[in-house]
Amino acid sequence: MNRIVLKLGVVMMSLILAVLLPLGFVADRILTQFYYNQIQEEIQELSQKYANSIMSLNDETVLNMYKNLAYFMNKEIYITDESGRVIADTDIQTNPLSTEELKQLSEGNPIQKNIEDRITNETYIGSGYPIMFSDTFQGSFFVFAPVEDAHAPVHKIRDLLFLSAVGAFFLGLGFTFLLARKMSNPLLEMERATKEIAKGNLDVRVNTLPNDELGSLGSAINNLAVETNRYRTNRRELFANISHELRTPISYIKGYSNVLKNDLFETEKEKQHYLTIIEDETERVMRLINELFDLAKMEEGKIDLQMEAVDLAEVIETAVLKVNLEIEKKGLTLVTEIDGHIPFIEADGNRLNQIIINLLMNAIRYTEKGSIYLKLWSKKNNVYVSIEDTGIGIPKEELPLIFERFHRVEKSRSRDLGGTGLGLAIVKNLVEIQHGTISVSSELNKGTKFVLSFPEAG
Ligand code: ADP
Repeated sequence: MNRIVLKLGVVMMSLILAVLLPLGFVADRILTQFYYNQIQEEIQELSQKYANSIMSLNDETVLNMYKNLAYFMNKEIYITDESGRVIADTDIQTNPLSTEELKQLSEGNPIQKNIEDRITNETYIGSGYPIMFSDTFQGSFFVFAPVEDAHAPVHKIRDLLFLSAVGAFFLGLGFTFLLARKMSNPLLEMERATKEIAKGNLDVRVNTLPNDELGSLGSAINNLAVETNRYRTNRRELFANISHELRTPISYIKGYSNVLKNDLFETEKEKQHYLTIIEDETERVMRLINELFDLAKMEEGKIDLQMEAVDLAEVIETAVLKVNLEIEKKGLTLVTEIDGHIPFIEADGNRLNQIIINLLMNAIRYTEKGSIYLKLWSKKNNVYVSIEDTGIGIPKEELPLIFERFHRVEKSRSRDLGGTGLGLAIVKNLVEIQHGTISVSSELNKGTKFVLSFPEAG
């Protein structure tokens, strides 16, 4: 038997015994007292009745009649004369009456007398009543009943109680066993499941899910398995993506350095071209590593933010200055529209700058001609920034995926344009850890619009 069944069983049985034992003891005491009092009342009544009804103390037949009566009543009697001498008895052997007792009786008072039979050693409770003929004390009539009479029915009841206690014990035992099994089965199943999960077998599930706390524990274990599985798949994909992303630039670097090492170029211009490729690819690897590192820190919640009241209008102006050159290179125009009074927001200025530059660089990267609109406004305690372009756009079905790591709509183009596929994942993380939100809308070949919102500093 498993240990939990045993423990539960012991607890329940102890409880049953803890209730039954004192109950039996108390019932025993109360019942004994009850029967004792009942017998006492009975013999008091009998002794009074007999003492009042007896007509003669000298007539042997009368005395014998009373003895027979006592015999049928299952009682012992003895009758004394006025001096306390026993003149008739049912062979009960006891001490003579004391002077005190005799005095009580002669004054017309009944007495109590508990005795022990000298021969049988049995204890009797007795009651004596004075016999009066025309108000003169003639003797006394004693009726005795063995104390055992008070105990006998109690013993019967005690036996019954004992029997029912044994019955209750076994019933309880069976019940406990069933209950404990019912409780421990799901627990054992959960133990097996968690051990399997710990071993890495993440497809295992807890199937017994009772509608109680054990059930919720089981579901929690199942959720844990699902989550761990998702985490594992995610991690696998991440590693696959990282190695894939590293492989391309590194094979470029390796290939072109080989070309240079073996002098496999014809003109100085060609050599310069190869060197530029090596430099660009090295830069890409560095960017990739830095971005990955940033993202990992963010996902673990370990990034340090210098939160302060920030003026977004100022952040935007600095960002615009930084991307101006790229805009000019591609022959695009940047239209900035900043509303009059913009409240400060609680954020990290440098990280905000990183977000805006990233979105602007994407807009530039994926727009061939036209304009990029950058707007800043505030509404209902929130500050909004929108970055809209007139570029290639994003297909509808791709929109929910673009914030995922390494997700690119057109892999080769993004790569050719210098993207790592991590930019938007970082942006979304950065926005969210600064209590902001980011949303995107886009139309293919028309353009894309990102909107950020941050709560006003309180
Ligand atoms: P990347 O480094 O490839 O740009 P991002 O995470 O920044 O990675 O963006 C993910 C993908 O979303 C990009 O590869 C691109 O396909 C798409 N994307 C992002 N911004 C824009 C935009 N302004 N216009 C069109 N497509 C975009």
